[in-house]
Amino acid sequence: MSMYHTRSVTELSAMLQAGEVSSVELTRYFLDRINNNDDKLNSFITVSEEMALSQAKACDEKLKAGNAPALTGVPVAHKDIFCTHGVKTSCGSKMLDNFISPYDATVVKNMREAGVVMLGKTNMDEFAMGSSNETSYYGPVKNPWNLDTVPGGSSGGSAAAVSARLAPAATGTDTGGSIRQPAAFCGITGLKPTYGRVSRFGMVAFASSLDQAGPMGQSASDCALLLNAMAGFDEKDSTCIEKDVPDYSADLDKPLNGLRIGLPKEYFTHSDGGMNAEVETVIKTALELYRSMGAELVEIELPNSSLSVPVYYVVAPAECSANLSRFDGVRYGYRCENPKDLNDLYTRSRGEGFGAEVQRRIMVGTYALSSGYYDAYYLKAQQLRHLISDDFKKAYQQVDVIMAPATPETAFNLGAKSDDPVAMYLSDIYTIAVNLAGIPAMSIPVGFANSNSGKSMPVGMQIMGNYFKEAKLLNVAHMYQQQTDWHTRLPEEFKA
Ligand code: GLN
Repeated sequence: MSMYHTRSVTELSAMLQAGEVSSVELTRYFLDRINNNDDKLNSFITVSEEMALSQAKACDEKLKAGNAPALTGVPVAHKDIFCTHGVKTSCGSKMLDNFISPYDATVVKNMREAGVVMLGKTNMDEFAMGSSNETSYYGPVKNPWNLDTVPGGSSGGSAAAVSARLAPAATGTDTGGSIRQPAAFCGITGLKPTYGRVSRFGMVAFASSLDQAGPMGQSASDCALLLNAMAGFDEKDSTCIEKDVPDYSADLDKPLNGLRIGLPKEYFTHSDGGMNAEVETVIKTALELYRSMGAELVEIELPNSSLSVPVYYVVAPAECSANLSRFDGVRYGYRCENPKDLNDLYTRSRGEGFGAEVQRRIMVGTYALSSGYYDAYYLKAQQLRHLISDDFKKAYQQVDVIMAPATPETAFNLGAKSDDPVAMYLSDIYTIAVNLAGIPAMSIPVGFANSNSGKSMPVGMQIMGNYFKEAKLLNVAHMYQQQTDWHTRLPEEFKA
């Protein structure tokens, strides 16, 4: 039996191009892996088997004809936040449990045009609000490294599916850490691009000034291939930036001599939700490896870091309260039974259709935007957001990339933080500033630590870059992955 799941996207693509495997064979293989394993993980909301096989068949014809793009025939999973024509798009919510999109998100369309086969839609926190995948209407996802722990969120289904190799790669979205934090918890590689690099059209909106889609895969080289397909200008998204898409695979092997790596002193602390000591040891070992590859480690300051969580939890709820007002039981989505009048229709449809965390965010956001409070909260938060961006601008005059842990600790147990929203919010303490500034950042697996669940769990290191420096981040990550094998490790239970 061929172990296709141990192959990277880069390898699978080469095998498809060489005719060593057909896309139908490969797609069937991964559909079987999902069918045989996902009852343990709950990483998929929908498996689009029939569509996948018919897309695979079409890909095989293109491969036979020659000149097919690199990703032709490679099966990938999409986070259930992306609209997919004819396939349910739930966004992890009861509100959209009955929603079948009449069109494709640009990310989905771009990837399909690049030859990708869609295996299905992955589980996620409801409307992408969460850090553990426990707010999903479809139930929590389990972390493949330890089924008692969370996979992170909100792209937890994508992270778990890639980690257990139920899909060779997946898409995710990141508003405050939702690609990087689950990538870190599940031991995979994830990239949040610069705000505006990837179209948001057809991606269910959470906080429009922060949301950004990106690839989640085994390695930096796989993420480069996926980003090549995802990125680009789209006139349907007014914040999408008209800028050429470089070949993200071109500079992966550039030597790192002279690379200046900034280490923000505010991120390397142990106080108040700071980093766990075992996580720190693993991160420091990774940094030493970079030094041995010719990089220089420079201590830097990001003095406004402590503002990022409070600022985010004003800006994100404010924007979500505006975005989610469209779910009113009239246009689409869930509608309550037997409404008495229009008001009852609105309030009960929203009260029954949205889960507790989403309702909490809508209330906080509506409050922050209401007259009398707007200046004190929303406006203030937007002003502070500039200070956070300015910290990064100054830092990038001194260094090429910034490194830090992706999360203060490794994956926690299911239920450990569900009753304490603030503790949950603090799991994004290292990832949120990046979204507020709009810069790109990755998480790569750099080892294991026993920080939380009593079992050795993956540690993710974050690599942040200046605007549009995705190619640099991928290069820096790839060179590390050439020297280490963390990214090729598989959780015991999903090896075979
Ligand atoms: N955990 C953060 C939140 O709940 C980030 C979510 C995200 O990036 N989508 O808002």
